[in-house]
Amino acid sequence: MPELVESISCPKCGGPLNLTTGEVIVTCPYCGTASRIEGDKPFVLRHSMLAARLDRDGAMRAIQGWLDGGVMKPDDLRKASRVTSLECVYLPFYVFEVDATTAYAGVLTRTGTNERRNGNVRRDYFWKILGRRSGDFPTRDYKIPLALKVPFSTAGMVHDSRFLNAEVDEDEAERLAREDVDAHQRELLRDFVDLVENATTQVDVKDAEFLHAPIWFSTYEYRGRPYTILIDGASGEVVRGDIPAPTGGFGEFLKGASRDLFHG
Ligand SMILES: [Zn+2]
Repeated sequence: MPELVESISCPKCGGPLNLTTGEVIVTCPYCGTASRIEGDKPFVLRHSMLAARLDRDGAMRAIQGWLDGGVMKPDDLRKASRVTSLECVYLPFYVFEVDATTAYAGVLTRTGTNERRNGNVRRDYFWKILGRRSGDFPTRDYKIPLALKVPFSTAGMVHDSRFLNAEVDEDEAERLAREDVDAHQRELLRDFVDLVENATTQVDVKDAEFLHAPIWFSTYEYRGRPYTILIDGASGEVVRGDIPAPTGGFGEFLKGASRDLFHG
């Protein structure tokens, strides 16, 4: 159980806000205002959410549909599987709209001629940072459907969903986004040179969003083992679905072993 550390009032409506350890951005359950709990005065943030398209029945249908098809899946996956848990969780994300330009100099060795190259790699991103410190969510695989963004309102949330406040504030999130973008730009340089001698990335943050996204977390059981499916409650897309090895055997043994290591 999370430890209740503090109780303060919402800067907008005065309602009581309960904070648990590590939370820095808290959303008021009465009026939906998100505020940063640091320093003397709470600071109110612009806050959005993604409108949910899937209710519980819709999420269940999406899971059944996913279990039903796909070349990598065991033939009896849908028939032999049982959904053992299904919960909608509102996860906090920061989304930064950034322009990044990397000036590089290096050597192209793949042609066998050690050709010197330099240039600029310029990209635009909507870069996501999860506002939680722990938890197993594949942020990179999640294509956040920003077109479904609406102003935050507690009335618009999925019934019986769980809500997570942010443990990362917007300043830290921006630092993380800059680091990630810089690292990603460096990866892109592999297309241009084999040996990077110099690379400098300029990251311009043009806009920042704080929003909550509904994700259906589900566990299903197949032949005595649990697997996870995550579904985007806004777009209806499967964010990640764990597929059992078709025949059991060594692959499944490895998968089981790593699961025990990381979640044991
Ligand atoms: Zn309030």
